[in-house]
Amino acid sequence: MPGGVQTEVKPYQMFINGEWVGSKSAKTFPVYDPSTEEVIAQVPDASAEDVNRAVAAAKAAFEEGPWASTTAQERGRVLFRLADKVRQNLAALAELECRNTGKPIVEAEFDLNDVATCFEYYGGQATKVVGYVNPVPDNAMSLSLKEPVGVAGQIIPWNYPLLMAAWKLAPALAAGCTCVLKPAEQTPLTALEFAKHFADCGLPPGVVNVVTGFGETCGAPIVQHPDVNKIAFTGSAAVGKIIVKQAADTVKRVTLELGGKSPNIFFADADFEAAIDGALFGVFINQGEVCSAGSRILVQKSIYRKFVEAMTEKAKKIKLGPPLERETKMGPLVSKEQYERVNEYVAIGKKEAKLASGGGRPEQIGKGYYVLPTIFYDVSNSARIAREEIFGPVAAVIPFEDEKDAMKIANDSPYGLAAAVWTRDIFKAMRAVKSLRAGIVWVNHMQPTYVEAPWGGYKQSGFGRELGPWGIEEYLETKQVHINLNEAPIGWY
Ligand code: NAP
Ligand code: MG
Repeated sequence: MPGGVQTEVKPYQMFINGEWVGSKSAKTFPVYDPSTEEVIAQVPDASAEDVNRAVAAAKAAFEEGPWASTTAQERGRVLFRLADKVRQNLAALAELECRNTGKPIVEAEFDLNDVATCFEYYGGQATKVVGYVNPVPDNAMSLSLKEPVGVAGQIIPWNYPLLMAAWKLAPALAAGCTCVLKPAEQTPLTALEFAKHFADCGLPPGVVNVVTGFGETCGAPIVQHPDVNKIAFTGSAAVGKIIVKQAADTVKRVTLELGGKSPNIFFADADFEAAIDGALFGVFINQGEVCSAGSRILVQKSIYRKFVEAMTEKAKKIKLGPPLERETKMGPLVSKEQYERVNEYVAIGKKEAKLASGGGRPEQIGKGYYVLPTIFYDVSNSARIAREEIFGPVAAVIPFEDEKDAMKIANDSPYGLAAAVWTRDIFKAMRAVKSLRAGIVWVNHMQPTYVEAPWGGYKQSGFGRELGPWGIEEYLETKQVHINLNEAPIGWY
């Protein structure tokens, strides 16, 4: 096997209050390699009792521990050290991410580089949090101060495991919060490996706790816990709705990064080669397990047939294979459950539309949760494969007449995470930028994501923004301070 792959099942503990511990129940659950379908690790199955311990540690660290009195500069330095650890261990972390998710190794390396960049960015942001002097019309000084929100509960998905952890941890730590992080049940390994470096980097016990477990038994207790002040969630819209309801009882601040059904829109005047490439990249990168996947491909009627043909021809050449091989462009889906879910949608698609390519597993690969890059065309925007998030390598190609028609179809979705538009006409592009109801709009590209720029959705794709200065703002409270400069009594009575 490539890369000196380990075949034994590695037992892991989880990280609470600076210690490596099992779950109170002593239960564990298996973690898989989706390319071999083999168990590669056992991790603790945390429940409410374990969450209580983690939250108590995070609360104590926030209120009394050394973290409570760190300066922004010190926190920044901790974040830079975390970034360095990621860079020093990039190859090993990328390999583990690759094995656990099934994503191609080259993509895993990109992700890990982004993880380090995220910690570096927020290392710098820590010292850029500033307050205001409010110009109140009185002999007084009015200030607005920024303070950390407290204990942050952070619940993340499996598609970009350590990167999603970084998007949550880095701004929270820069702000001075403490954290209880729950990775997805399928992919807890890189977060646990990363936690081994926390003490070395200067994170005191309790500042970041990593609990491994299932949504209902480990995620929900975090959301419901009265000492958790904020929930940052990335995941499906279905679970996002549950979280908002559960967080209401303790009036927690909530940010949600949910799914999407993002339109990738191609006008006839777009550069044809670039367009075909952009359509494939938009929907098949990371096996299509991308929240912003361009899974609705809107193509102007005058180039539609040619476009579908060219896309199909190129999609058939995409190299599926073992994720650790550097030539691999698509690995397996993350889990059996996801494989079955995507295949159900493929079956639905076969009834709703015409299949141009893919539509099953690659014949030459016996094991692993592989799905061919699948393209459906002549899809109606009201079809289920055009409305529901599939989260796999399934594209729905939809024809449109003109600009107005394109915008109408693009915005006709319960989601609004991202959109892309391809044209050489700057006026048309800018009109689309204005019309599209989405948190991210790309012009003549799809998917580039930068820690410096805001990330988040409109409509049912969630609320709140991650990354950039917006990301840290979500972990800050604003305190108004009024300082009376008159020494005389108020004089009202
Ligand atoms: P998911 O099923 O919604 O799970 C996300 C996380 O929530 C997991 O850690 C999950 O635990 C946990 N969870 C499940 N039920 C819960 C509950 N009742 N209370 C608290 N936590 C609960 O999503 P997924 O299948 O892992 O990931 C795919 C989804 O994430 C897609 O819809 C995708 O669009 C979205 N996503 C969005 C973004 C974005 O930035 N907008 C980025 C990446 C992914 P378990 O692991 O045990 O299920
Ligand atoms: Mg799940």
